[in-house]
Amino acid sequence: MQIALWAMAAESLADIHCYRCIYTWTPRRAPVRMCPRCKSRLWIVPKVRPIHVGTGLGIPEVLGLHRDRVLALAKRYGAKRVRVFGSVRRGEAN
Ligand SMILES: [Zn+2]
Repeated sequence: MQIALWAMAAESLADIHCYRCIYTWTPRRAPVRMCPRCKSRLWIVPKVRPIHVGTGLGIPEVLGLHRDRVLALAKRYGAKRVRVFGSVRRGEAN
């Protein structure tokens, strides 16, 4: 009986995941105060990484003239999601 009640309670609580360590678990009781893996009380608050805008060259300066050629090459070879990353994305290229 005791086990059946615990199973019913566990089924009513859906799996949740921690925003800090991406651990997923089924809570045994509500409310959930901390992540059982990393012990963070901020497990429910998403981390927001601010984008630093640098003083170097950015996407328009580096890719501006070659944008059409890059997209044409991507289309020719079947690439669908072309992205810019790293120092150019941050605007710190030199
Ligand atoms: Zn965690």
